[in-house]
Amino acid sequence: CGIVGYIGRREATPLLIQGLKRLEYRGYDSFGIATVGSDIDLFKKRGRISESESGAVTLHGSVGIGHTRWATHGEPNDVNAHPHTDCTGRLALVHNGVIENYIELKKQLLERGHTFRSETDTEVIVHLLEEQYTGDLLEAVRKTVPFLKGSYAILAVSAHDDRIVAARDASPLVLGIGDGELFAASDMTPLLEHTERIVFLEDGDIAEITPEGVQVYHEGEKVEREIELVNWCV
Ligand code: GLU
Repeated sequence: CGIVGYIGRREATPLLIQGLKRLEYRGYDSFGIATVGSDIDLFKKRGRISESESGAVTLHGSVGIGHTRWATHGEPNDVNAHPHTDCTGRLALVHNGVIENYIELKKQLLERGHTFRSETDTEVIVHLLEEQYTGDLLEAVRKTVPFLKGSYAILAVSAHDDRIVAARDASPLVLGIGDGELFAASDMTPLLEHTERIVFLEDGDIAEITPEGVQVYHEGEKVEREIELVNWCV
């Protein structure tokens, strides 16, 4: 599938839709977007983004995440489309990959009182995040990823929080550094129309993304990832 994220000063929705259209070759059975304000606003729909009235998506906010899905667990429908939210509706997440131990995790989460809406493997991640979240999204992601077996590239947002937190292991994720804005995506194609400054995240990386820049962590330590200059015309 394809995932995209935007944080900056502009309206996120048109940028996310444009990015998802560029990533549609990676998966196209459904798509969805979440924007962040005092609440999380969601739009999710079965079908191809290029064939739907994406102009009808009127979510506002300058922080957002998006997804174009290639279903592995749970049929393609509006509910199984990403982003997925926690029980409180204050956390949202998009995911590319497969959580191999999701049945076991889901059973434990159900026993602890979580309510699931979708049939996806992905939804366990956002409920685990909910359990770890005490006001710091970065900390919650750091504590959640050790539970996951399988492959993931994720982008997570929380209401009232001007950050996107990204993590990857065995699924691709790249960042585009703009001027007072940042982009995230499964590959470079949606980024290069906005910036030449690209950061390739590595397996095990967790990144805190703000409009001013990115801080990457690896095994709990701050690390520097090189900003590579990629020229579209080359
Ligand atoms: N395994 C997840 C799902 O089925 C993500 C699939 C994807 O990468 O599109 O929803």
